Amino acid sequence: MSQTLEGLSYSALEAVLSRAGVNPVHAHPLFSAVQRQLLRGDLSQAAGILPPVQRWLGSSDAIPVCHMKSVDETPSADGFTRKYLLELCDGTEVESVQMGFPGRFTACLSSQVGCAMGCVFCATGQMGFSRNLTAGEIVAQAHHVERELRRTNPGERLRNIVMMGMGEPLHNFEPVMEALEILTDNRGLNIGPARVAVSTVGYVPGIEKLARHPKRYSLAVSLHGASDEERGKLVPLNKRWPLDVLLEACREYTAIKRARVFFAWTLIRGVNDSDDHARRLADLLKGMDAHVNLIPLNPTEGFDGGPPDEARVRAFQQIIQDAGLPSTVRQRRGIDVNAGCGQLKAKRRPKGVAELEV
Ligand code: SAH
Ligand code: SF4
Repeated sequence: MSQTLEGLSYSALEAVLSRAGVNPVHAHPLFSAVQRQLLRGDLSQAAGILPPVQRWLGSSDAIPVCHMKSVDETPSADGFTRKYLLELCDGTEVESVQMGFPGRFTACLSSQVGCAMGCVFCATGQMGFSRNLTAGEIVAQAHHVERELRRTNPGERLRNIVMMGMGEPLHNFEPVMEALEILTDNRGLNIGPARVAVSTVGYVPGIEKLARHPKRYSLAVSLHGASDEERGKLVPLNKRWPLDVLLEACREYTAIKRARVFFAWTLIRGVNDSDDHARRLADLLKGMDAHVNLIPLNPTEGFDGGPPDEARVRAFQQIIQDAGLPSTVRQRRGIDVNAGCGQLKAKRRPKGVAELEV
């Protein structure tokens, strides 16, 4: 996919301008026009854009802005969730979700079209992998949500970003990190790094790289099973990076970043929701700086399973709490419009894209 202005970090924009013979001091107003004012039309008319940049913008060297279109928008009845179906330049589609309430708006962004990881209960996994998103396409999703917020809730802005939409973010590491660098830049949307969560199914090489990355984003790891046999049935990737290897990478992350790891456990009725599962989960994470997010299963077309009832969820939570493991039950929001965890999928995908090696 081609480069767009949204996907250029401040330093990358300076380098692009320098290469074009434009003094890099001009990066500031241009970055601000794209990343703070979120302009998409004729940037040469934006505040502070001077003739050298105007000339560059009008030249054949110029990098365009991303023309991502919102093709569908579905507000959930709960009033807390709004799902956007966005069409990318090549006609491919991804979904992004706006969640929350004034003072606490969050964007849930996609990192790939589809996903190669094949978790059996996840709609994105069920559609297979099509392609990675570029940094610009990831940033443009956040811009879309921010623009809608500014329009519908004047004075509000995005506070949190969660990489929990379509795809496995650590399987598209560089573009995701580039996008987060841009979104956390205080000359742009200025999202606090601690308010950014990167969720992974357990792609260990990515966790190792994230531990060494200079920014301290929150790490969420999707677990769902406390033994290799049980987890392997839900998360095929477990065969490549089994639990002991995964947890070692998480311990290393905690040690390097001095940050707790958030573990997600999707509760599936009769599969991983018993007292025994809860006890084994608590044993597995004993001694770690960990927090567990319990997510009752959201329905998807390709998986014949359901969520436990509320009493079972509470009983499960009580057991891990008694074992000293802090936890939260994730509110089941947006499931009426398929905007819940694991329910995102595209209608149209690019053709002829090779499968990625996992
Ligand atoms: N690929 C990353 C991030 C996207 S999925 C990951 O797997 O972590 C975001 C979260 O939704 C993950 O914790 C995932 O396990 C969970 N999830 C997927 N399908 C779900 C479903 N049908 N119901 C509830 N949670 C689901
Ligand atoms: Fe991919 Fe995450 Fe869905 Fe698994 S749960 S298929 S890793 S998006």
